[in-house]
Amino acid sequence: MYKSVSKKTKELDDKYIAATYARFPIEIVRGCGSLLYDNQDREYIDMGAGIAVNTFGICDPVWISAVTEQLGRFQHTSNLYYSEPCAELAKILCERTGMKRVFFSNSGAEANECAVKAARKYSADKYGPHRYNIITLKNSFHGRTITMLAATGQDAFHTDFLPLTEGFIYVDQGDSETIRKLAAGGTVAAVMFEVVQGEGGVIPLDHAFVKELADIAREYDILLIADEVQCGNGRTGKFCGYMNYDITPDIVTTAKGLGGGLPIGATLLGDKTEHVFMPGTHGSTFGGNPVACAGAISIINRIDDALLEGICRKSKCIINKLLGAPGVKSISGLGLMLGIDTYGDASDVIRFAMEGGVLPLKAKNKVRLLPALNIPDDILARAVDIIADACAKAAALKKCLAQPGGNFH
Ligand SMILES: *Cc1c(COP(=O)(O)O)cnc(C)c1O
Repeated sequence: MYKSVSKKTKELDDKYIAATYARFPIEIVRGCGSLLYDNQDREYIDMGAGIAVNTFGICDPVWISAVTEQLGRFQHTSNLYYSEPCAELAKILCERTGMKRVFFSNSGAEANECAVKAARKYSADKYGPHRYNIITLKNSFHGRTITMLAATGQDAFHTDFLPLTEGFIYVDQGDSETIRKLAAGGTVAAVMFEVVQGEGGVIPLDHAFVKELADIAREYDILLIADEVQCGNGRTGKFCGYMNYDITPDIVTTAKGLGGGLPIGATLLGDKTEHVFMPGTHGSTFGGNPVACAGAISIINRIDDALLEGICRKSKCIINKLLGAPGVKSISGLGLMLGIDTYGDASDVIRFAMEGGVLPLKAKNKVRLLPALNIPDDILARAVDIIADACAKAAALKKCLAQPGGNFH
């Protein structure tokens, strides 16, 4: 594979960084919009946007000016004092979603932790301490803290980290019957779900199932927590992913794309949980950081109808070009959050794409695309051609390997 990591960086990283990441042998040194450059000045089209973080690409000038302006005023004050950027961002988020109040943190996992605390407190205040269980879906992903590992409905994430936080029950997507039974049992505080499961393989939830969930939640006063960490902030072609479904969650969490590149998490509290927190019940030192919030305001204000229309149009372009292309089995997802199921191995597709100058992501056995929401049409078209080619090559490779004596160069 093409290698472009400086010897020094590689040696230091290999020696001193905790070995939690299997990195590709590419060292990014700069970028512009949807283009990234490695240390040999080789250009790549960025189809991952830092895992749905760089909403408007690399070094977006509007975001840079919002962030640097705030940096020139003050970078942090703590939550002991008022500051405008976090108050303003909270107002905008509430106006866009109909939620009532916001708690700011620094990551998706923290946003979800706060949601679980809010849901348990709502339930404890109203029904007493026994009603604490949170239902999550099998194949979900909610983060890496011990409690969010517990929330994540995939055994593979749990091994070696036991015991996890108590009080999470996993149910198959579509199994509303079990959810109804659990709800009737009187021990459930909330159901937490991603409307499009990201890490689980870019799988949108079924519309009828989501409606059932909402019905059960209403009937039993169970809170709906929408984990919009990946599918929020315009990614699916609506401001929030859940807006593709006819539901109003009680709590919405988001992070990744909200900051446009700086760490931020937000937990949006609706009517039921608006008043659960009081001074001392939750907190975060960095949460509501004015620089992150100033950047986030500049991001959210540009997620308008024109941008959302563009996202849907670009999504259709990708699907139209790839569906039926050699090596492509199927495509799933919404907007610019797409998973490509391929006949070849996803890892091979990604390797070929990289060699062709495109950086896609993986999710389970799929190739995952999460480009910047403003990726220019011509750059996107080039990326899709290269990915199509990579899918065909990966499929051919697999066939050759399956036939002893076949060759591939
Ligand atoms: C990435 C992700 C998280 C975790 O976010 P971090 O910022 O890595 O803590 C939680 N939920 C979903 C759906 C995610 O995609």
